[in-house]
Formats: sequence, structure tokens, C-alpha cells
Amino acid sequence: MTIAVGVLGAAGAMGQEVLEALGSDARLHAAVVRPASAKVGMSVPGHDVAYRGLEPGVFDGCDVVIDFSLPAGLHDALPMLDGIPLVTGTTGIDPATEPRLAHHATTAPQLRAANFSAGVTLLLDLVARAAAALPDADLEVIEVHHKRKRDAPSGTALALVDALGSARPEARPVRGRDGAVGPRARDEIGVHAVRGGDVVGDHTVWLLADGERVALQHIASRRGTFAVGAIRAARWIAVQSTGSYTMRDVLGLTDR
Ligand code: NAD
Repeated sequence: MTIAVGVLGAAGAMGQEVLEALGSDARLHAAVVRPASAKVGMSVPGHDVAYRGLEPGVFDGCDVVIDFSLPAGLHDALPMLDGIPLVTGTTGIDPATEPRLAHHATTAPQLRAANFSAGVTLLLDLVARAAAALPDADLEVIEVHHKRKRDAPSGTALALVDALGSARPEARPVRGRDGAVGPRARDEIGVHAVRGGDVVGDHTVWLLADGERVALQHIASRRGTFAVGAIRAARWIAVQSTGSYTMRDVLGLTDR
């Protein structure tokens, strides 16, 4: 079955990756950019549509919308997405957007993922198991991203902290360390953001014990990996019932 896909944030780095990765089983129906974008009205290379500005009705006819816009873009678009299945990869979402996301999930299936790669979905499972298996190890998360990234720490790093926290409910995240912080407390999960160059996204979880240490690492070597994962999620969610889903559901790692 061919699904009609809307892409929000179509002019961005990830939006362009999605446009390139769409195939015959997922047809571009709406390429949505900022209303003031110079791309409005220009045709999308390789597809039979023109870029359109975000406005009510722009997603009409979409079986699913893939969002890689920035937090403000998602916030503005949500009232226009009632009843339309949504896959969103936007990170750094403002708390004020949460009620809109919660409402949307009562009108259509919705999937949020800080990272669409199968490898990171697996890593989230692995780090929880590792933290439980090494209860005395100190936990630290280090992420590295390109210099254009706006939010820190990355959404994926925060998801890793949550996964570690499921095995260590008493642990609290500590973002970066600076100054006379004193000895490390046992119940900390350190989180550190490195920025520079064109790094697509590296995440390393350290489990540091006395006398040995373990590092679990994921490296994304191209952004297309996230686009392919998002399209896989879109095809999956287009036929689900109303509610919230994760990549674990798409990859069959949860019981529902
Ligand atoms: P980007 O800045 O290159 O692109 C974002 C695009 O959204 C821009 O073109 C911007 O003009 C557009 N936009 C903003 N407001 C809009 C609005 N109101 N209407 C329409 N378009 C609007 O950023 P990027 O590198 O493509 O990343 C986008 C988001 O995706 C970020 O939050 C990033 O952290 C996240 N991301 C997620 C994954 C994942 O796997 N989940 C992977 C990479 C990036």
C-alpha cells in the first residue's frame, strides 16, 4: 500500500534527508516549510509537489506526517494535525507544547522518538540491562553533535538517562560539571554535551567501577539513517489506532 506523506520542516537538514529517502511505497503529498520561506511555491526535486507554507489545511489528504521542524514549528503545527497520524523527531520540545501533543494523541496515533535509528533503540535496552547488572558502577553519558545543533544535551542523551534511571530509580542527572563540585555522588548520572564540526551524532554510556569500566557506544555515520527509520515508523503508525507509540513498538520490542 502506498501512503501519502506530509513532511514538516521539509527545507531543513533532516527534512531534506526524508524527501530523498521517500520511495514508491511512501509518496510525498505535502512538503511544508515556514510560511515566509523562499522555497514556498518552488517544486520539490524528484517529487510531484511544490513546497507549501505552514497553514491550516496544508496536511489535508496526508496519511501520516513526519516532523523534523524545530520546537516552535511543531508547536505551531499541532493544531493543524488533529486526526492525522504523526511521527515527530523534533527534540528540545518546550513543556508548553506537551498539552498539544497529549491532545493530538487522543485524535490520532502519534510516535515520538529522539532517535529513529534501530541501533539507538537497541542501545536504550542494553544500557538499562548493564546498569542493573553493575549496580556499583558510576554512570556517565557523553554525546557529540555537529555545531549547528540547538539543544543540549541531545534528546537521545536524555532518553539514555531515562533508560539508566529505570535501573537506578534513585539516580539523578547532573548536567556537566564546573567549579568546586566535590567528590562524585553515587546517585549521579553525569550528562555531557560536546559540539563541533559535522558530527551526525555519537552517544557513549560509561559504566565506571573501581578497577574496570565498560563503554556502550552508538555512532550514527549518516543522517539518512534517521530518515529511513522515520519513514519505517511512518508506514507502521499510519495503520495504528489512536495513542502514543515509540520506536520500540515499531521494532517489535514491546508487548502491546
Ligand atoms: P534544521 O534547522 O536543519 O531544520 C529544521 C527546519 O524546520 C528548518 O528548515 C526550519 O525552517 C523548519 N521550521 C521551523 N519552524 C517551522 C514552521 N513553523 N513551519 C515549517 N517549518 C519550520 O534542523 P535539523 O538538523 O533538520 O533537525 C530538526 C529537528 O530534528 C531538531 O529538533 C533535531 O534535534 C531533530 N533530530 C532528530 C533526529 C531523530 O532521529 N529523532 C535526528 C536528527 C535531528
